[in-house]
Amino acid sequence: MLEEFKKYLWVAKAISRLTLSTQKEVVIRFLTAKKKYLPEDNPKAQVEDILKCALCPNMCRFDCPVLQAAKSETYSPAGRARIAYLLEMGRVSSHDAVELMYACAACSACQQWCPFDFSVDDLLMGVRRDLVDRNLVPETLMDIKDQIVRTRTIYQNSRTSLGLEPRKADILYVAGCTVLNKERIIAQTAMKILEKAGITVTTLPEEWCCGAPLNLLGFEDDFKKFAAHNADSIKKSGCKKMICSCPECVYTFKEVYAKEGHPLQVEVMHTSEYFLELIEQGKIQFKELQRDLVYHDPCVLARKLHITEQPRKVLEAIPGVSVKEPPLTKEHTRCCGIGGLLAITNPELSVTLLRARDSELCKLADTVVTACPACKIAFKRTRNAESRDLSEIVLEGMN
Ligand code: SF4
Ligand code: SF4
Repeated sequence: MLEEFKKYLWVAKAISRLTLSTQKEVVIRFLTAKKKYLPEDNPKAQVEDILKCALCPNMCRFDCPVLQAAKSETYSPAGRARIAYLLEMGRVSSHDAVELMYACAACSACQQWCPFDFSVDDLLMGVRRDLVDRNLVPETLMDIKDQIVRTRTIYQNSRTSLGLEPRKADILYVAGCTVLNKERIIAQTAMKILEKAGITVTTLPEEWCCGAPLNLLGFEDDFKKFAAHNADSIKKSGCKKMICSCPECVYTFKEVYAKEGHPLQVEVMHTSEYFLELIEQGKIQFKELQRDLVYHDPCVLARKLHITEQPRKVLEAIPGVSVKEPPLTKEHTRCCGIGGLLAITNPELSVTLLRARDSELCKLADTVVTACPACKIAFKRTRNAESRDLSEIVLEGMN
């Protein structure tokens, strides 16, 4: 407290040199300014933090892939914070301003450089919650919300299970919407790896989406319903450990559920972490596999879950596999364009991001390996290199 007071002593000294009437004016302005620059109601967004970001000279701008793709100052991190601030203060409400609140890859690259430790996607999340309360959500995003609530997944005509009979097991495998519907091979290879390693594994009879898209779009109440349902069905599985191949699912189950009042009673791991554990215990053993690969760090895995070494160690444990490193790697990775639902909210920006990242990777090897089903799908689209999930390479290399 005393230290804090000493820090601001220079202010008191400066004020003491002013005339009495000016002193009074300065103190009144100081006490009322904050009120004047913050909304009177109680929004869900952290408006004070948004204001700090809006006033920042964009310290993180050079690392924001959305700004690089859009090439417009409006899309800079602080640019979006400025519009967010005006929306929160009720000074703008145009369609363009609202759309801009979804133009973020939720990659957290900005956080690496931010003196306040902000990630703009976190700041925008509160704004999106306020847009829901104010009925300002674009119609297409309302449709996506309705679809998830109705079908329990983000994909149309989709499946919600791997079709296996639940059983008593060591491990619960939760596939997630993308693996279940678009990249089933990732679940099949993960299950085969576990079976070969002598691990008994079970799945949920019906998987609901982890809720990440609802949370990202600001549908707080619906997200909480999904979290409560999933926490209950995961508990009923009786497993103490659960693994997922999708980093967004891991982050949501592990971090967001706890933050939103639904902590899970199981240990949640990404497949890369669990595979490494099994390799170290000698339960996964490899034969020689001649492969040149480049590993792409998924943003959520590297920046939000800080998992960068485990997938590399898994690949390096396979004799004959050579892993190349792109210039932007580990926590300095670059988004594949799918993050933050950008492929839905801003398809053109998403494609530009993908092309930029893909051109860095496919120079280095003919196979891009990643540890996220959404990234795998993105790199498959460019067809410049073979796109594989970590589990596929592990199974290929297993004895
Ligand atoms: S995220 Fe941080 S560094 Fe980037 S513009 Fe906002 S306040 Fe500045
Ligand atoms: S989270 Fe990523 S895309 Fe969004 S502002 Fe930060 S750096 Fe840019």
